[in-house]
Amino acid sequence: MTNLATTLESTWRLQEDEGFLLSDPSGVEERTLPDPDVGIGWRLRWMPHRELRANTVELERRGILNPDRRHEILIRDPRDPSGRHCFLCKENITECNPRERLIPLHLAGRDYLAGANFAWIERNHFTVMAAEHVDQDFTSHIIDAMVDLYRQSGGSFRVMYNGPQAGATIPWHLHYQITTERFPVEDLGDDSRYPTMLWRVDTAEASAMASDWIGPDPEHRRVNVLIAGEVDRPTVYVFARDRRRSRAKSKGLMGGFEICGDLIYSEPDTRVIFDTATFETARKAIAEVRPED
Ligand SMILES: [Zn+2]
Repeated sequence: MTNLATTLESTWRLQEDEGFLLSDPSGVEERTLPDPDVGIGWRLRWMPHRELRANTVELERRGILNPDRRHEILIRDPRDPSGRHCFLCKENITECNPRERLIPLHLAGRDYLAGANFAWIERNHFTVMAAEHVDQDFTSHIIDAMVDLYRQSGGSFRVMYNGPQAGATIPWHLHYQITTERFPVEDLGDDSRYPTMLWRVDTAEASAMASDWIGPDPEHRRVNVLIAGEVDRPTVYVFARDRRRSRAKSKGLMGGFEICGDLIYSEPDTRVIFDTATFETARKAIAEVRPED
């Protein structure tokens, strides 16, 4: 393992021991639903701890959120319709989540910080945020930074980008998600069998592929991107998205984790879906956000 991979994994374990993560990863309920037509197994996860992420009282009680945070000093993006402070600006994290351990990174010429996601979805799940408060919009820097991070981690950490309104709920601050877990889509044989539009390309082609999709309709078109595979020759998964098709009936918002085959359920009224979903339910959820060709 590289130094960075070791640092990230040990920091995640430390944050778990310190009670910064909302639950420990040992007891996660999971269902794998093999899909004979697509040739992979969809993965469903029951993660009720995620519901606590909006529970201010409980977050304060656990020391994840500083009860004495000074609201007046928090940085807010004027475009945020609900006037929330930016959850990804370092100054805000220092004030609101002083127990979050931030790891400085330098990716493709820019500074970033990695912090364990306390409402984690995958094991060793970090959010990697730009040191600057800059938009989440797709640019060629994004692929370069993601590949740089993938290589620096020795290929241990998969790197994911969610376009604004295509999984990214904070469109004002550039960020990625990383995890050591393998995604169901990585077992795919033939791209054309996947329920949504996906291109698997090498790192040199990826930026142009994403830009070719977004270019004709930048108001609506988005991408999700995953970097995985061999560290010396990573595979870039570019998923075509359209912000008008951001939700699936059986799942709600569909982000990068879902597009890669992981369907995460946490709300009490979705327990029945987690229990009864078939491979067809999962496949349909992904097909529902497939853009019109
Ligand atoms: Zn910010």
